[in-house]
Amino acid sequence: MIKTIVSTELPIDEQFCIRKNVIHNGKDGLRFCVVTGTHGDELEGQMVCYELARIVGGHLDSLNGTLEIFPALNPLGIDTIQRGIPNFDLDMNRIFPGDPHGTMAEQTAHAIIEDIKGADMVIDIHSSNLFLRETPQVRINVQDAEWLVPFAEHLGMDFVWVHEAATVLEATLAHSLNSTGTPCLVVEMGVGQRINHKMCQRLVGGILNLMQHMGMWRGDVLDDVPSPIVCKGDRVTFLNAETSGVFLTEMTCGTNVTEGQTIGQIVDPLRGKVLSTVKSPVNGYLFTIRAYPIVYEGSLMARIFNSEEV
Ligand SMILES: [Zn+2]
Repeated sequence: MIKTIVSTELPIDEQFCIRKNVIHNGKDGLRFCVVTGTHGDELEGQMVCYELARIVGGHLDSLNGTLEIFPALNPLGIDTIQRGIPNFDLDMNRIFPGDPHGTMAEQTAHAIIEDIKGADMVIDIHSSNLFLRETPQVRINVQDAEWLVPFAEHLGMDFVWVHEAATVLEATLAHSLNSTGTPCLVVEMGVGQRINHKMCQRLVGGILNLMQHMGMWRGDVLDDVPSPIVCKGDRVTFLNAETSGVFLTEMTCGTNVTEGQTIGQIVDPLRGKVLSTVKSPVNGYLFTIRAYPIVYEGSLMARIFNSEEV
């Protein structure tokens, strides 16, 4: 059943709507929400929503409870290929929990929180941005780690990154939900404006696996759901560009690297010179790699989980 959770008039005879697909079976059972499209340039969640609606909607007998699918929390952003909310010049994931008496964007954020609040699980799907490619991963604030990591381990992702408290972004959807006791896992994967089928299928399989673990799904699940590498503590190395130029790399994310291994080169196309050779300072697991080749001094090129105790 399609439900509208927000509906507002736009200035000239158009309607702003946020909709969800509510798929339900059984007398009671838990409530599981899959949300995406907060950032309009991140599209992997669209395929995940499509597949979940298709699979679960087509096998209702296997569902025990309610699956709610929200493909577009920022529909204007998706329609116009913009990360934020057009016209407001605003990152929607910085205005939660919103305000019922605020601007249209704040009212929308408030209505979203009110609608989702109380769910037994929320998966918030992101796909990085245009610049960085991410291996399928779950990101969790350290304060929620004890509670949420056991759920994240069932999602079949490569990596779980437990953030330090200092980097907690309080105005995100996930933080707003988690702080009111509604568990929300943030998934990051792929790259902006593209859809990687394999990664999407991985996450669909992982979500069904988690639903099965929670007693909500009796249908098929993957035979062997991989266990993620869980990164706790301050063990992520950021590789930032030493100089501006064109970053060339053939590395893919989700690979192990050794100390001193070349990750890529920053080159000068005018003079045919290598300006900087980018090497891994640690033995570890490369989970982020730059996708957009133009870099400025300080641009992020890679993130590596230091697999040796520090
Ligand atoms: Zn995002």
